[in-house]
Amino acid sequence: MNSLEYLQPRDVAEAVTLLTEAGGEYLPVTGATDVWANIRSGKLAPRGLVSLTGIAPLHELRLDAGALVVGAAVTHARIEDSAEVAAVYPALHRACSAVGSRQVRNVASLGGNLCNAAPSADSAVPALLYDAVCVAEGRSGRREIPAAEFFLGPGRNALAPGEILVEVRFPRPPLGTRADYWKLTRRKGVELPILGVGVRLTPAADGHTVAQARIALGVAGPVPMRARGAEALLEGEEPTAERVSRAAAAAAEESQVRDSWRGKAWYRREMIRVLIPRVIGRAGVFVS
Ligand SMILES: Cc1cc2nc3c(=O)[nH]c(=O)nc-3n(C[C@H](O)[C@H](O)[C@H](O)COP(=O)(O)OP(=O)(O)OC[C@H]3O[C@@H](n4cnc5c(N)ncnc54)[C@H](O)[C@@H]3O)c2cc1C
Repeated sequence: MNSLEYLQPRDVAEAVTLLTEAGGEYLPVTGATDVWANIRSGKLAPRGLVSLTGIAPLHELRLDAGALVVGAAVTHARIEDSAEVAAVYPALHRACSAVGSRQVRNVASLGGNLCNAAPSADSAVPALLYDAVCVAEGRSGRREIPAAEFFLGPGRNALAPGEILVEVRFPRPPLGTRADYWKLTRRKGVELPILGVGVRLTPAADGHTVAQARIALGVAGPVPMRARGAEALLEGEEPTAERVSRAAAAAAEESQVRDSWRGKAWYRREMIRVLIPRVIGRAGVFVS
């Protein structure tokens, strides 16, 4: 392995300058758990790494009245340890607590997980469920990218060259909202999902019908995706067992699952059908 330059900027502007001037030869890193594995396997050979971990605002984890703000370098372990996140964003809490092992979660960040843009990224599913907004900064300033537009393809995100992810904002869900995430794996720990299934249901004022539904799937296509047809079947309706099962079938149909060594397409499709009602039940939604 060739030697690597290792740079530690103190603020976002300096990081952006370093990355822009290097013209793609430097890579930004937070925990470097993905990047390091790729360097070791020879998939990546950058000239240098720009560590973002010395930039204080990127470590901010704050629950405001309107949103949860997660700095791009916040680790999965900090999210796992947050009682506030567990109470208000249970699907995000469940997903981040399921990443790798505690050792991995101690260094791996939410920002790295999203920027890596793997179809299997656990935290991508709650980012879609909660309509999260990714805040990016580059030479021309800051801009906001909805999570639904952040993943462009396996390993490809919507950041422009030289731009970095600064924080992710999760709007506070209305009271009464229920959500959960199910990570389907072959064994219990240190395993990427065969499938990730997340559901968020927000009740209408009548207390019976669903005002807003979100169903998001990981490893069900080239990018983490929302099952919009399935969501539409639940919105404005009572979540009866029959309707939930129709929505689950619709989500299985609109998924773009494929065969991989972790699981066959038919199995993934079948498990979407099985897991959506299960996640809704575990989230605490009363299904009549
Ligand atoms: C043993 C092991 C088990 C794992 N298990 C899981 C698992 O169960 N689920 C799962 O989803 N993942 C898993 N992973 C993958 C990895 O740990 C996660 O994706 C992790 O969250 C990546 O975070 P990081 O901070 O280490 O990212 P890094 O490796 O630092 O970066 C990942 C990518 O994002 C880019 N990047 C990082 N930060 C920024 C930023 N702020 N702005 C712009 N680009 C940025 C990097 O250039 C790189 O392309 C595992 C990895 C290992 C080694």
